[in-house]
Amino acid sequence: MSTPTVNASNMANQAKLIIIGNGMVGHHLVEQLVDGGALEHYQVTVFGEERHRAYDRVHLSEYFSGRDAESLALCEPDYYATSGVTLRTGEAVIEIDRDAQDVVTDQGRYPYDKLVLATGSYPFVPPIPGNDRDGCLVYRTLDDLDDIRAAAENATNGVVVGGGLLGLEAANALRGLNLDTAVVEFASRLMPMQVDNEGGELLREKIESLGVQVLTERATQRIEDGDASHHL
Ligand SMILES: Cc1cc2nc3c(=O)[nH]c(=O)nc-3n(C[C@H](O)[C@H](O)[C@H](O)COP(=O)(O)OP(=O)(O)OC[C@H]3O[C@@H](n4cnc5c(N)ncnc54)[C@H](O)[C@@H]3O)c2cc1C
Repeated sequence: MSTPTVNASNMANQAKLIIIGNGMVGHHLVEQLVDGGALEHYQVTVFGEERHRAYDRVHLSEYFSGRDAESLALCEPDYYATSGVTLRTGEAVIEIDRDAQDVVTDQGRYPYDKLVLATGSYPFVPPIPGNDRDGCLVYRTLDDLDDIRAAAENATNGVVVGGGLLGLEAANALRGLNLDTAVVEFASRLMPMQVDNEGGELLREKIESLGVQVLTERATQRIEDGDASHHL
């Protein structure tokens, strides 16, 4: 792996490259730039909305089975600094001013010559009444999992809305946190995008054997206090 030599004289000739997003893709791009020697030509700054540097989101659920944030990280803590790349975590870009060629965060304005958006995606939260209540959480980031763990401490029941791949990962995580867990799925089978009816039945058996209640063909209409579980 090459480490670029950045000195004051070549900095003047370097174009400013800003990467928005320090997820798996944004990090991979940085590695390619570093390894390919592009830092001779570019002064690179990366903005990450999350407070953690890039981590292996694909293996996020392992955070609930013993792995910590450091072991999921995609690089050593000093990788960016020693590579000559500026990493600004916990700083979301809130505006791109294309006329001025600036990105804007709540901490300032940063000029760019080239801009890459590697912002990934956000979980879709369906517009169900009650979806903004305490204890209604999404499953995408390390901070989300911290919130779920904290909410589970005082809870007995957990419900996952959505019986796709991530929903089932989340349900397994809730079981691991000792909650009575149910999955609510609109379609007639779990993982409707990936499996057919027969596969869906086998999957239901497997998921139920983990102690998760499977409710298919149910459209979630409201989220509210029930008899067995109450607003935290
Ligand atoms: C639990 C779980 C399991 C998964 N399992 C698999 C799997 O088995 N196989 C598979 O292929 N995929 C899986 N995925 C999907 C995979 O994680 C994503 O496809 C991958 O993370 C996409 O990488 P990305 O860098 O494009 O986006 P992300 O990893 O989402 O990273 C984007 C980053 O940009 C940041 N960002 C967004 N907007 C801004 C802004 N305005 N300013 C600054 N930063 C910003 C975000 O906070 C985020 O950190 C899984 C996802 C989850 C949540």
